[in-house]
Amino acid sequence: MTPLRRRTSSAALDLDRTASVDSIASARSSGPPDPPAVDPELLAQRGRLIERFAVMQSELGGLFYEMAIRDHVRMDVLIPKAAELQRVDSELGQLQRMIETGATSVGGNCPACGAVYGHGAAFCAQCAQPLAEP
Ligand SMILES: [Zn+2]
Repeated sequence: MTPLRRRTSSAALDLDRTASVDSIASARSSGPPDPPAVDPELLAQRGRLIERFAVMQSELGGLFYEMAIRDHVRMDVLIPKAAELQRVDSELGQLQRMIETGATSVGGNCPACGAVYGHGAAFCAQCAQPLAEP
């Protein structure tokens, strides 16, 4: 009984070792490739936009509060500011997509609306302005 059990356990051990060697080898050969390095400029630009968005959002909230407590909410003042905030938000979303899709460099800023675009983009994703290659 004892020799049989020892043999079984040693066979199991061998199997384990084989399996782990195999999995290391397959992780090396067919594992997911490293994500392409993201242009640090993209990350820096995203950081600036996030900061700008936070400042604008807090300003808009503060402005609304000031108007509300005076019972004089001026939509003509708030709406353009909200639109500007929305523009920054969508620019941020665009930048985020560029980072996620592995864009490695910024092509530049759209001459018409200022949105950042990826290297090689033919049109601005924000306002459809045709873009010349820099
Ligand atoms: Zn544009």
